[in-house]
Amino acid sequence: MKKHIFNAGPCKLPEVVLRDTAEAVLNLNDSGLSILEVSHRGMEFMPIIHEAKKLLMELLNIPEEYSVLFLGGGASMQFVMVPYNFLNKKAAYLNTGYWSRKAIKEAELFGEVVITASCEDSNYTTIPRDYKIPRDADYFHVTTNNTIEGTELFEDIDSPVPLIADMSSDILTRRVDVSKYALIYGGAQKNMGPAGAAFVIVRKDALGKVNREIPSMLNYLVHIEDDSLYNTPPCFAIYTLRETLKWVKEQGGVSEMEKRAKKKADFLYDAIDSSKVFTGMAEKNSRSRMNICFALKDEYKNKEADFIRHTSDRGIVGLQGHRAVGGFRASCYNAMELESVHFLAYTMKEFEKMILK
Ligand code: PMP
Repeated sequence: MKKHIFNAGPCKLPEVVLRDTAEAVLNLNDSGLSILEVSHRGMEFMPIIHEAKKLLMELLNIPEEYSVLFLGGGASMQFVMVPYNFLNKKAAYLNTGYWSRKAIKEAELFGEVVITASCEDSNYTTIPRDYKIPRDADYFHVTTNNTIEGTELFEDIDSPVPLIADMSSDILTRRVDVSKYALIYGGAQKNMGPAGAAFVIVRKDALGKVNREIPSMLNYLVHIEDDSLYNTPPCFAIYTLRETLKWVKEQGGVSEMEKRAKKKADFLYDAIDSSKVFTGMAEKNSRSRMNICFALKDEYKNKEADFIRHTSDRGIVGLQGHRAVGGFRASCYNAMELESVHFLAYTMKEFEKMILK
């Protein structure tokens, strides 16, 4: 049975990426070596990491004054590295949900944190739009896609202070004006490849402004100096990441990914909005294209387990909402096929007919 993988991350990857990766594990470029066996400083791996950086620069139109890094530790390590490298006295954060709260918690270890705006009152179903960024903050941090709550910020904000964004779950899914950001980071395991690598895009002249000593492993300048090879990088994850970037390019780049994302999300939200038994969780003007969160209407809430069974019997995987919010979540990252989205909508309709009978 075909599997329709709606996991929130790690998640579905393009088939060709999986095949290339399998081949590289057995015999990397006909070298007789596995990608798991080669030195990170050797001639087999160096071109891979360099091409990955080059492809990301190209796909996102990253200006030359920026560096691209691939590091271990996931996006959660960036919650620490960002304040370590940028927070002198005060930082401003937008509180848009679970992951931004985690980022805020780490930043509070380093100095004053001002919550510029929060959507806690709406239970994180909206994105705040009306706020003023303090001009004396060292930086302003936003989470552009809230993976758990299913809300998304599509604009590149004009910020009077360095803008820093967690783009873990929407990088490469819409065009971004990188020049508006001092730093963009995220885990790779949604739209850029497998778990194990985090990406960092940083404007070099934004660094080196804090007064504290920074441990080498947490210092962006050290990683830039050593070209992401200060320590052994996650070579295997970077290999698959490079293959994923090649696939994005071959498909037509970020603007094509954006077009597909709109199409998939519009289709699924239409199915939810026209349903008699399902309802969307996020406010319409804040809805994420990546993580489509929905629930059964109150009167059908007791059918949740039945819906999960109904879908998993048909090969649909990963629909359970995050434990913090409940309901269902269909994650539609770049590798998600429109056919799978159609199939999910059809299955929802089928379930609706069954329970309304
Ligand atoms: N930020 C966002 C928006 C996320 O979705 C996630 C993971 N789902 C994280 C941060 C944390 O990433 P990691 O598990 O790589 O530390």
